[in-house]
Amino acid sequence: MGSSEWRPGKRVAIVGGGPGSISAGRAFIQRGYDVRIYERQAECKAIGGAVLLSTPVLAILRSYGLDPNDFGSYTVTYFKNKAGKERVKLAFNPDIEKRMGIKGWHYGVLRSSMFKKMLELIPNNIIYGDHEFISYVEYDDEIELLFKNGHREKADILIGADGIRSAVSRQAFGDHQLFHTGIRLWLAWCDHIPDIPPNYGFISHNWQYQASFFPMTHEGKPGFEWWVVEPSWDGKPVPKDPKAHLTEILKDWAQPMPRFLDATNFDTQVYRWEIFNRPSLKKWSAGRVVCLGDAVHPVSPYAAYGMGMAIEDGYFLARSLDGVDLRDRSAIRAGFELYEKQRVDYVNHNVEFARYLGRMFHSVPRPFAYLRDLIFDYTPVLSNFFKDGYLKQSEEETLNLKELHVI
Ligand SMILES: Cc1cc2nc3c(=O)[nH]c(=O)nc-3n(C[C@H](O)[C@H](O)[C@H](O)COP(=O)(O)OP(=O)(O)OC[C@H]3O[C@@H](n4cnc5c(N)ncnc54)[C@H](O)[C@@H]3O)c2cc1C
Repeated sequence: MGSSEWRPGKRVAIVGGGPGSISAGRAFIQRGYDVRIYERQAECKAIGGAVLLSTPVLAILRSYGLDPNDFGSYTVTYFKNKAGKERVKLAFNPDIEKRMGIKGWHYGVLRSSMFKKMLELIPNNIIYGDHEFISYVEYDDEIELLFKNGHREKADILIGADGIRSAVSRQAFGDHQLFHTGIRLWLAWCDHIPDIPPNYGFISHNWQYQASFFPMTHEGKPGFEWWVVEPSWDGKPVPKDPKAHLTEILKDWAQPMPRFLDATNFDTQVYRWEIFNRPSLKKWSAGRVVCLGDAVHPVSPYAAYGMGMAIEDGYFLARSLDGVDLRDRSAIRAGFELYEKQRVDYVNHNVEFARYLGRMFHSVPRPFAYLRDLIFDYTPVLSNFFKDGYLKQSEEETLNLKELHVI
């Protein structure tokens, strides 16, 4: 079962076995800590679909021993309207490319193949499947975890990486107060289609829908991820025939969007998500407990790269506690505060910005949406909005990851 090493002062217990957990696990192991990961499912499994990972995440994964070139390739992202008119071209930052040694900004990957690679970073006997966490009891010098199967474990710190309905986060910070963000996402992927230019993807909108695609790599093979965002609400009926529903939305959309419909197996390559968020938390730690990823900041897919931010959280958390004797409460506190200082405002900004974009593109009544679209089609407003609201902060964060620079 678990690691034979479980030394007081080094014991890091992680609840949840998603990307944030695996990143934290790897980062703590690299820093000489003893790690145990508790996952409620029999084994850790990635949820379906494809994801975009950005430069800081790729650099962190590279520091864990994964080669960014295995994940895909750089892509120039455009924002367009439904007819294909360009609104924004997301420019690369040559300084960041040079310093990080990674071309571009976003890479598309199939979540399951990416996550498989991440799991290979964790030595055997670290992950405990079939361990559903129920609650914890904190003592002055350690913390005890209780699981549904009756197992109990004592550790120095507890990391809650157990996703949007986190039991750890609920006990530490109270009810999640989840709310529907007003959007539903259809996320799909397909094998390669010829004649679509390489290194090219777009995010496009009509007055109420978004339809987008991005090249990606899975198991070394090229393919595409594509997705549609529609207005939604908690309890909105689900169409019985998703293919007919998406075909209707995409019927007169600019190419190549309609081409993806026939290239995709709707039984195995399409996922639907209602997007829920929670009010932003100002603190992600309490005593010997700290949380990361969706457990404290579930995201909306607009610009808030949730898998990426969970991976980043794990890295930053381990870096903030580097060398700390985890028996020492005040040293833990200082480490958690450093982690929160580096992450909380940055992540909350991204999540709130993403939510705002969701509302702006999908909840505006028709006459106002028409005006909005004229502004986006014929002025630099949207371009400036992305530069100031998203790229600027992310680039600053990347430049601050100095230990991951190649020059
Ligand atoms: C529609 C959609 C599209 C997205 N697109 C992107 C994208 O393009 N790029 C991107 O970076 N991110 C994307 N994301 C976000 C991303 O999937 C999540 O943010 C990410 O998976 C969060 O990782 P995590 O490790 O925090 O939590 P999760 O991946 O949710 O993992 C939590 C784990 O904890 C386990 N668990 C839960 N409760 C317990 C318990 N009590 N005891 C033990 N184990 C437990 C679960 O089984 C699970 O394995 C998207 C999300 C959605 C919904």
